[in-house]
Amino acid sequence: MDLGIGGKRAIVCAASKGLGRASAMALAHEGVSLVINARGAAALEETAGVIRAATGASVMAVAGDITTEAGRAAVLAACPEPDILVNNAGGPPAGDFRHWSREDWIKAVDANMLTPIALIRAVIDGMIARRFGRIVNITSASVKSPIPSLGMSNGARAGLTGFIGGLARQVARHNVCINNLLPGPFLTDRLRSNAVELAASSGRTPEQVLADRARTNPAGRVGDPEEFGFACAFLCSAHAGYIVGQNLLLDGGAYNSSLG
Ligand code: NAP
Repeated sequence: MDLGIGGKRAIVCAASKGLGRASAMALAHEGVSLVINARGAAALEETAGVIRAATGASVMAVAGDITTEAGRAAVLAACPEPDILVNNAGGPPAGDFRHWSREDWIKAVDANMLTPIALIRAVIDGMIARRFGRIVNITSASVKSPIPSLGMSNGARAGLTGFIGGLARQVARHNVCINNLLPGPFLTDRLRSNAVELAASSGRTPEQVLADRARTNPAGRVGDPEEFGFACAFLCSAHAGYIVGQNLLLDGGAYNSSLG
């Protein structure tokens, strides 16, 4: 299936590894020109090289912290008129909310709510004028099913989700579609490091933690980031113009509901 986005331009944030990288790779396979971002320049350049070699797409690497004004300005300078924006950043740390200061909360809200909103604000009028825009926010399954120890993630991402629900319906008539992708457990470095932390507190090895995670999932496994990338590329496709303001769970069925 041709996704109909060959020649389009995309910004993919937080994309040297994991879900962002897989999303960038899937878009590049469709002939989309990319600006990818992450803080670590070396890993980002390496990823850009791998994507170029695999797809022949144009890939520009812009290193910087996307949660800062300067990081966002650098990315937008490299691609001022994107057709596609994939918002992503690291998730806030786990813990007990009694230990979190106002500064901790501001950091979480900055990364997982205000940063995507700032980037959307910078690009959306151009998308409206050109009558094509696709924006995907990578959030978390925790938006639907909160993870108690990840309170800052639950809270900040819920704020973004509420805002997007309204905005998506204000811009859809211009063929600008905004949706959220909610990952459950995908085998990325983040999941691996979570497994190491959980292992320490539960008397299991990290391998056992991951195996338990896979066994208890209805799909009998954790997700492959490549699957996530393909879903993201479809939401960014020319064929996704009637998918508006949705929260798509990619979790192997872990969220138990008859209604998705
Ligand atoms: P990952 O494998 O650890 O990759 C994170 C990527 O984001 C890296 O490229 C990292 O590079 C970049 N990054 C982190 N903070 C950044 C920042 N401030 N500015 C720019 N780039 C930044 O993580 P992942 O598993 O793909 O997770 C992506 C998002 O999905 C996170 O918000 C995570 O909480 C959420 N999520 C993941 C899962 C899962 O199972 N994997 C489940 C639910 C939610 P640098 O460190 O070099 O910046």
